Amino acid sequence: MNKSLLERARAAMPGGVSSPVRAFGSVEGDPPFVARGRGARIWDTTGRGYVDLVGSWGPLILGHTHPAVIDAVVGAASRGLTFGATCPDEVELAEALLARFPCADQLRFVSTGTEAVMSAVRLARGFTGRQRIVKFDGCYHGHADALLVHAGSGLATIGNGAQPSSAGVPACVAELTEVLPLDDEQALDDLFARRGSEIAAVVMEPVPANSGLLLQRPEFLRHVRAVTERHGALLLFDEVISGLRVAPGGACELYSIQPDIVTLGKIIGGGMPVGAYLARAEIMRCVAPLGPVYQAGTLSGNPLAMAAGLATLRELSAPGVYARLESLAARLESGWKTAFAVRGVCANVVRQGSILWICLQPGPAPRAWQQVDKRGAAMYARLHPELLAHGCWMAPSAWEVAFVSTAHDEASIDACVAAMGNALAQVHQVQTARS
Ligand SMILES: *Cc1c(COP(=O)(O)O)cnc(C)c1O
Repeated sequence: MNKSLLERARAAMPGGVSSPVRAFGSVEGDPPFVARGRGARIWDTTGRGYVDLVGSWGPLILGHTHPAVIDAVVGAASRGLTFGATCPDEVELAEALLARFPCADQLRFVSTGTEAVMSAVRLARGFTGRQRIVKFDGCYHGHADALLVHAGSGLATIGNGAQPSSAGVPACVAELTEVLPLDDEQALDDLFARRGSEIAAVVMEPVPANSGLLLQRPEFLRHVRAVTERHGALLLFDEVISGLRVAPGGACELYSIQPDIVTLGKIIGGGMPVGAYLARAEIMRCVAPLGPVYQAGTLSGNPLAMAAGLATLRELSAPGVYARLESLAARLESGWKTAFAVRGVCANVVRQGSILWICLQPGPAPRAWQQVDKRGAAMYARLHPELLAHGCWMAPSAWEVAFVSTAHDEASIDACVAAMGNALAQVHQVQTARS
């Protein structure tokens, strides 16, 4: 009877959660339950408020309960939740997205980012008639079997297929996935020299934002484009985070690179479950019902998700939106940098547009996972509960990024800067007392 919500959650669901990182496994303290959000803020079930820098892990570029999005969703809901038939908003959202990604002629909507990448990999294999795919160490592409692999003991396994990074992934599936380090032209060239004709696609986050923020040299991205093209392999840009975040046309626009397939999710659903994969007509013609690559979904193109996505895209096309995000995020970056400097903490704040990462290591920002000093996690584990205590809601993992939304303003950004200063002071005090 008197069990807490946390106890009940943990009894009813593995770890008490529907997605692992929410369990606060790698930071100190228990996860609060979030009761509601508005604009840049959320409140937990005890009534405590926070400035939210997680934004539901990326989708909420307009913040919580944006009136235009809520109106669109309520309007759509009142007309019916799902029909299993194409709806008008679906066509409009498809056109609006294709206008932002000129490398693509057509798209297919799915319900999650995982599904988008999984389907896009199937399409790449169907189109090329090849089986192998390449991914980069540190890039996350959802939890489809073929993409839940890493390089095992570093470079030792390159070229021999990869080790699964989850139990339950068959070795024969993982073997078809090659894992390469980011920022390394030579490793890519070597692999293609040996296996180029077997590779269906290179899958990458052009703005890797799932192992910290590992910003790539544009020359490296251009090299990946050139090598894949030369070998008849497709280049798949997974822009589930970066699409519509780093620029209206995502990393494709930011770096002026035309991949063969783009996957989207998060922002394009405005907070509702959605994903999409986009490609030029020649490739999309392979997708059922036009072609032999099967892919379907009962709730795909869901009217509520389409309405929320469309409303979000409309707001994002207002003049000055990306400039505003840039200036707020720059303010947060410089405020945090000052907070670290004042406390004498060796840390970087890495930023691309409204995506920020607190990188707790000295020296230049890492561009590949093996350059990341994993010891930063211990400091972050102590910092995180203090950030929460000072009203700044950050991801409960050192390897996750922070997102600024259009609902933030100077005051809420400054509150996050102050929270960092206070959190650092607190952690420093405890450290001094311990030693
Ligand atoms: C979040 C994410 C996914 C998976 O999307 P889900 O909707 O969580 O399935 C895939 N790729 C990237 C780059 C992501 O950030």
